[in-house]
Amino acid sequence: MAAEKLAVTRATFDEVILPVYAPAQFVPVKGKGSRVWDQQGKEYVDFSGGIAVTALGHCHPALVAALKSQGETLWHTSNVFTNEPALRLASKLINATFAERVFFANSGAEANEAAFKLARYYATKRHSPFKSKIIAFHNAFHGRTLFTVSVGGQPKYSDGFGPKPADIVHVPFNDLAAVKAVIDNHTCAIVVEPIQGEGGVMPATQAFLQGLRQLCDEHQALLVLDEVQSSMGRSGKLFAHEHYGVKPDIVTTAKALGGGFPVSAMLTTNEIASVMAPGVHGTTYGGNPLACAVAEAVLDIINTPEVLNGVAERRQLFVEQLKALDARFDLFSDIRGQGLLIGAALKPQHVGKACDMLNAAAAEGVMVLVAGTDVMRFAPSLVIEPTDIAEGMARFATAIKKVLR
Ligand SMILES: *Cc1c(COP(=O)(O)O)cnc(C)c1O
Repeated sequence: MAAEKLAVTRATFDEVILPVYAPAQFVPVKGKGSRVWDQQGKEYVDFSGGIAVTALGHCHPALVAALKSQGETLWHTSNVFTNEPALRLASKLINATFAERVFFANSGAEANEAAFKLARYYATKRHSPFKSKIIAFHNAFHGRTLFTVSVGGQPKYSDGFGPKPADIVHVPFNDLAAVKAVIDNHTCAIVVEPIQGEGGVMPATQAFLQGLRQLCDEHQALLVLDEVQSSMGRSGKLFAHEHYGVKPDIVTTAKALGGGFPVSAMLTTNEIASVMAPGVHGTTYGGNPLACAVAEAVLDIINTPEVLNGVAERRQLFVEQLKALDARFDLFSDIRGQGLLIGAALKPQHVGKACDMLNAAAAEGVMVLVAGTDVMRFAPSLVIEPTDIAEGMARFATAIKKVLR
């Protein structure tokens, strides 16, 4: 018997879902490229990219093909058995990066959890069990498990859940002197996003990231880069740290890796990986064939000059339009970020209006993001059509006009 299709609406959300989100008032039902349609058939331009996830737009034919083909072949084996898509994806990630070893998981938080555990474990095995201090940054975001919210630099996400993992120190981002003041030989790792995403779309400076590398070397600590949001071409290079010429010890990637299929990876070196052994860490779904087959197709497409070079051109279009909006409405104090991770910080007279602007934008038919209360954030598909950028920006301008009226 075929399952009966239950009628659901946005109101159903308020009855059945744990109230940890406040989704927009419409329910998307279909997407193609950078356009999305809701239950009423209204069409939207998507500048949100599912929070930097749908990097090749919605329902990209090559990803649909990979999903269908793997879906008819083998879905899941568990890590009691390995599988071809995982082995291919790991090999390709290694070929494309500093990495020599890969661990797969299902979300950014899980990749980071693995990274933080590995950093602690490596220090314990190679140095001392007391070498456990993790240095992290104010406003950093690393996920929602208890360890990752604790390393994250926004106490509102970690307060109220009981005792937090100990020996984690937070200092201001882009402040090398502050790191120097707290780093010591008991430090196992510095954890940093090359571009803080949730924390306001704030790129690290060249001097800061290079300085962190040097401090890690001086104190035998690992440099852990959280590239969950900034990797997979988002910055215009496959990984954002490539812009800085800094070699990391551990890097995490997730969001765009699966283009919308949940999958994440932690990348590291042979030396660091060598402390691990069967049973020390793991996950049931990590490296699932279905996820890895899709991610392999994503990587094959993104890691090409066509896609990576197209990011800078598209950024230029966004920045031009945002500057035009600023000239018209005296709106932004800063337009920043890298590639197609774009932050537009609101001027003091508009502070606190970011969410109103997001909602007004949705009403006009364009999906945008915020980062905090004062920064508009754009993380569209890396292959968004220039005509979609123009149309979405025209709708965004109408929304801004209405908010300011
Ligand atoms: C989104 C994000 C995470 C968390 O990823 P989830 O898949 O939501 O667990 C971690 N770090 C950064 C930098 C992110 O942007």
